[in-house]
Amino acid sequence: MRFGVCWYPEQWPRSTWVDDVALMADIGFELVRIGEFAWSSYQPSRNRFEWDWLDEAIDTIDNAGLSVVLCTPTATPPVWLTNERPDILSVGSDGRRRPYGSRRHTCPTSSSYRDEAARITTTLVDRYSDREAIAGWQVDNEIGNHDSARCWCDQCQTAFSDWLSNRYESIGALNAAWGTAFWSQTYPDFDSVLLPAPTMTSHNPSLELAHRQFASDQMIGFVAEQFEIIKGRSDEPTTTNFYNEDTTVDQRAAAQLGGVASMDNYPHGPSDPMVTAYLLDLTRGAAGPGGQAWVMEQQPGPINWTDTNPPVPPGQLSVWMWQVALHGYDAQLFFRWRAARHGQEMYHSGLLRQDRSQTTAVVEIRDTMRQLAVADPEKPNPRVALLHAYVDSWAIDINPHLAGLTHRSLQLGPYTAARHLGLDVSIVDPTSDLAGFEVVLAPALHLTTPERLASIARALDAGTLVIMGPRSLVINEHHAWSESPLPGGLSTRLGARVVEHLSQPSSVLVDPWGSDAGIWTDVLDTDDADVLARYSGNSYLAGSPAAVQRESLVYAGFSGGGSWLALLSDLLDLSPHPPDIETFDRVDATYTIDHRKLTVESTPTSQQLT
Ligand SMILES: [Zn+2]
Repeated sequence: MRFGVCWYPEQWPRSTWVDDVALMADIGFELVRIGEFAWSSYQPSRNRFEWDWLDEAIDTIDNAGLSVVLCTPTATPPVWLTNERPDILSVGSDGRRRPYGSRRHTCPTSSSYRDEAARITTTLVDRYSDREAIAGWQVDNEIGNHDSARCWCDQCQTAFSDWLSNRYESIGALNAAWGTAFWSQTYPDFDSVLLPAPTMTSHNPSLELAHRQFASDQMIGFVAEQFEIIKGRSDEPTTTNFYNEDTTVDQRAAAQLGGVASMDNYPHGPSDPMVTAYLLDLTRGAAGPGGQAWVMEQQPGPINWTDTNPPVPPGQLSVWMWQVALHGYDAQLFFRWRAARHGQEMYHSGLLRQDRSQTTAVVEIRDTMRQLAVADPEKPNPRVALLHAYVDSWAIDINPHLAGLTHRSLQLGPYTAARHLGLDVSIVDPTSDLAGFEVVLAPALHLTTPERLASIARALDAGTLVIMGPRSLVINEHHAWSESPLPGGLSTRLGARVVEHLSQPSSVLVDPWGSDAGIWTDVLDTDDADVLARYSGNSYLAGSPAAVQRESLVYAGFSGGGSWLALLSDLLDLSPHPPDIETFDRVDATYTIDHRKLTVESTPTSQQLT
């Protein structure tokens, strides 16, 4: 694993640079990421570029034997540019332009923004692509974060109409696919399909889903232009980093642009080690087989942007570093080198304090880097796949039917259960090759499409155990309910069908385990399936099937994590370990992280367990 740090030379006196970079080298870092918010320092005015400071910063890094991940600065356009071309600014659903003052306030569709982004990226890459010190490129920063992919400006309205026209070809086809006879919403033409701004009550979910897909496509289209500029000038790896708590842009599509998937890892954002594990596996899955996965920003200490920003006790950072390594990452860069004296992130810790004194993170990073270099753990080779697609998350989050129910929450129950059984998990697209996995988990696989059904059928034919969860195979790609019994397209093979939903917090249990069914339950009728579990408790559902199986296809109607753990434990004949424990079976050793005690242990093994 390669290690590095995120540095902002434009924010610090040049007199500190040589000593700072020398310390980075002394710690053992290889990579220094710079420049992702430096547009006004790159280009202080329309026709003035200032490169002397960046030349010197790169020279300083190079002279110390380190390499540079150089970033395009498009997440933070300079004030002069927004004054000159205000149509680069995005517009909220309230119709108001989003003002400058923070970041990510641009419209990915805006032709002005795309022109200016192409100009600064081309100029930057032309100047530095021949430098030996450049080890990689980062395009933009955390695309989609702060809900920045969606914009309601005039250019987005026009582009949305064009996007719909390309997809449906005729307005009649759109009206039929979206069922616009409902509430007399029949559109006379594509220009009449307005971006979904606030209205009297909820919009047609077909419109909402199309808008989410369009917004993701626009953002991917924007960064794809930046990738193309770099590709034509440099062979170094190129990526765009995601903050995975945000799901508005399809990370898998972005990872395919450059072959490197990267994410920013802030475990105190989700505050649950299993969610961190899930987010790490999500990005590693986006990289695809053989692709690289990087943590471009690793939390080194307390952060400043959650409600509580808890302390990071001794040992915690080491555990986070091990967790990243054991989830199969190729690089890990800490954010940030020195804590800021100005701006929104002053209370965000760095490896150095504002006064340049070293925090304890420096010692902990040095020690853990040494441990990881000795252990050099292998990457995971999972036999379990979890099916995930952004379109499912958009569809369920648009139409949750129950406050608090999210696609993420439906995914986390089965994912966490698998991890508690010690199983590595690949998070993959539903249409990828599934037949090589022993177990496929498909909770909340909401859309039913011919491609997905074919993929699942191939896996079932190969003997893979496919375990579906609630809200699976319900709607088509236009957000219209399946015409077939649910799970749509698989009920015949399952020998059972979903006939009802209990979508409210309840005390329904699942027998034989007596476990909580969770906040969403699908009710099943069986024709020719074995009943694995039944609902119980003080509910009219008591006695009805909760999980059924026919051959290697299983459908579980419950969402509760404890019930999923019991189901997987029975099906796979595995015993769970305590909930704070995360294990990783590798060829030479089994690694155990105790997230409560903040310890990592390895036990040599003589056989391959994965
Ligand atoms: Zn826009």
